Amino acid sequence: MAESAAQTPGGNPAQPSQRKGEQAGGASIYLPQRIAGLKDIACNLWWSWYPAARGLFKYIDRTLWRNTNHNPVKLLALCRPGRLDAVAKDPTFLQWYDAVVGDFDRYMSPEKTWFKTAHPARKEVVAYLSAEFGVHNSLPIYSGGLGVLTGDHCKAASDLGVPLVGVGFMYPQGYVKQRIGIEGWQQNYFEFIDWSTSPVMPARLPDGARCVLRLSLGTWPLHIGVWNVQVGRVPLFLMDTNVEGNDAADREISGRLYGGDRIMRLRQEIVLGIGGVRILQALGVDAQIFHANEGHAAFLMIERIYELIQQGKTFEEARKTVAETTVFTTHTPVPAGHDVFPEELVAEYFRSYWQAFGLDQDQFLRLGRTPGASGWNMTALALRLAGRRNGVSRRNGQVCRQMWQPLWPDKSVDDVPITHVTNGVHLATWVKQTVASMYDHHLGKEWRERQDDRLFWRKVHHIPDEEFWNIHMRAKRELINLVRQSIRERWMRDRIDATQVIAGGALLDPEALTIGFARRFAGYKRATLIFRDIERLKKTLMDPWRPVQILFAGKAHPADENGKRIIQQVYQLARDVGFGGHIAFIEDYDMHKARYFVQGCDLWLNNPLFPMEACGTSGQKAAVNGVPSLSVLDGWWEEGYNRENGWAPPEASDLPPEKHDEVDAKALYDLLEEKIVPLFFDRAPNDVPVGWVRIMKEAVASSAPLFCANRMVKEYVDRLYFPAPEPQAVPSGAEALEPPTPT
Ligand SMILES: *Cc1c(COP(=O)(O)O)cnc(C)c1O
Repeated sequence: MAESAAQTPGGNPAQPSQRKGEQAGGASIYLPQRIAGLKDIACNLWWSWYPAARGLFKYIDRTLWRNTNHNPVKLLALCRPGRLDAVAKDPTFLQWYDAVVGDFDRYMSPEKTWFKTAHPARKEVVAYLSAEFGVHNSLPIYSGGLGVLTGDHCKAASDLGVPLVGVGFMYPQGYVKQRIGIEGWQQNYFEFIDWSTSPVMPARLPDGARCVLRLSLGTWPLHIGVWNVQVGRVPLFLMDTNVEGNDAADREISGRLYGGDRIMRLRQEIVLGIGGVRILQALGVDAQIFHANEGHAAFLMIERIYELIQQGKTFEEARKTVAETTVFTTHTPVPAGHDVFPEELVAEYFRSYWQAFGLDQDQFLRLGRTPGASGWNMTALALRLAGRRNGVSRRNGQVCRQMWQPLWPDKSVDDVPITHVTNGVHLATWVKQTVASMYDHHLGKEWRERQDDRLFWRKVHHIPDEEFWNIHMRAKRELINLVRQSIRERWMRDRIDATQVIAGGALLDPEALTIGFARRFAGYKRATLIFRDIERLKKTLMDPWRPVQILFAGKAHPADENGKRIIQQVYQLARDVGFGGHIAFIEDYDMHKARYFVQGCDLWLNNPLFPMEACGTSGQKAAVNGVPSLSVLDGWWEEGYNRENGWAPPEASDLPPEKHDEVDAKALYDLLEEKIVPLFFDRAPNDVPVGWVRIMKEAVASSAPLFCANRMVKEYVDRLYFPAPEPQAVPSGAEALEPPTPT
């Protein structure tokens, strides 16, 4: 029988090693009494999207702030005590400090929030389970877009006052770090997270003891330690199996993101789904709505059915309750992208479950089967057991309905019960501070509250062109400075070859039209599409009157040889003297670099193979900073593109797939040569590209209200977490886009 017990260290303890427990969350930081509140602020990632709090840390030591990649826990740990004593007596600092502490207290216990106003009767807590959370680069427990999305979801839920908790993993080795060798091959390495300089605290039971959970499934016993990270008002509970009582292999379960073989992967997902539900109970969090992000978390539904049966419900009753209170979001638009485990493997762990359910082994295993295939498919399981299901863009919703129609053989594709909620991005995280100040000035500070108000954003068109452009140019110079700084450090540290210094972006030109392409290097993203006709591209890039440059960045999954080969192709061209430094590959892309990229490029390129892009959020981040997209009409751009806010090649969806590369590449070259480059270099006497700036402004005005995370989280709340009792046809906020009204 499955059992779990939250144990106190006094009982029969399985404790996370003392070393970590004691030092986590900057336990050893020295702070003068007068400014002792800095530690609470440093340990709540709220500071990362509140500029005045960031400014406080910058004030303490600007260089250290930069050298710690904006990690305040690390900054406080490394700062000379003399400097902290000095700011504790500095009246300017203290005034600022008191204001931020006041803002923080008000943020944490607000009088009113959107949620309280919109859903005054709702008290239920929503638990959001995901294998990755991208909150800040000082917490490397994300790999790419999916993780950053979950982080943005938590931040917006915090801002809106939604009672949400996140549940995931604390990977001690984080995600892979990337260096590129001289031949262009990605070298992977892992860095252990330094717990003492991370905003991570041991999670505590209601009685104050350290939370450690014991789980046993089949013959497999496991101990799970739990950590807490605060994202504003939203707590994240992160599980860690590197604890006493586990054998060496099980300690590795939470070792790193997406590591290990099938067995390890299955065990990870058992920890996420089953452990996730149980730790919330142990911690006294009474979650009643569950949101599974991707199939990785689907075991939560099995666990909740099991628990309801323990409480006396029948299997059918339990299944119905779970369906009514579970939301499942699927992103992956291809069958091969879903986790499938051998049925014998799954059966090893779940005997006590099917017995409790009153099912035999085969009936139980059918919950995870797809028609016509054997194997336990986590997505099929989740689609069967969750009552509310969604894809992450309008297009992706259609693709998912089509792909999963066999699970609903009596329904037509259009009637398959999978809706969509288009992803969005957390504006306070992604909009550059100088750009946000410009919005404050011209739109009014209320843009933060009215961020999903479409009419309101039309005011962006009233911002003077010159101001808009100059603020962008500053962001671009900062991006180029960051690139040069990191390649200079790499050169000095590792004595790399001079051509690598150039490939790393040393010769970038702030006046050139700068195209950004940065995301995970997966094959379907087609990073090398733009190189299909090298000579044609070279002519465009090397025009001395109208120079163009392309910045690439992104990691390949450590096991993805194809992804690494694509990086190598890009890198070799970046080293090619014929491109004169106009192509650069920036190593080790993360959220820190991502911010500079989406704020500082002139044009954001995205050319995935249709219909593989579930949504794509990097283009949304660029758009809200006034950086337009050149993107194929897939994912969000199919909803967002309005002919005035960027560029799109004609849809290739009705062509056979093998034709797409050729047709899309040609369309990209045509657009660049005929429209994009000429418009960018068409300058007014004050050197402002007026036509281009109009497109930049329209990118903001059209995208910010539709693709902000507030719109997304409100939709999840109103339509999926707490739908009105009567089903009603509420259209997605991202539908029915009108053409822009000229102002
Ligand atoms: C936003 C983001 C992504 C997602 O990029 P897509 O183009 O949507 O795939 C990937 N990595 C990082 C670090 C990001 O911030």
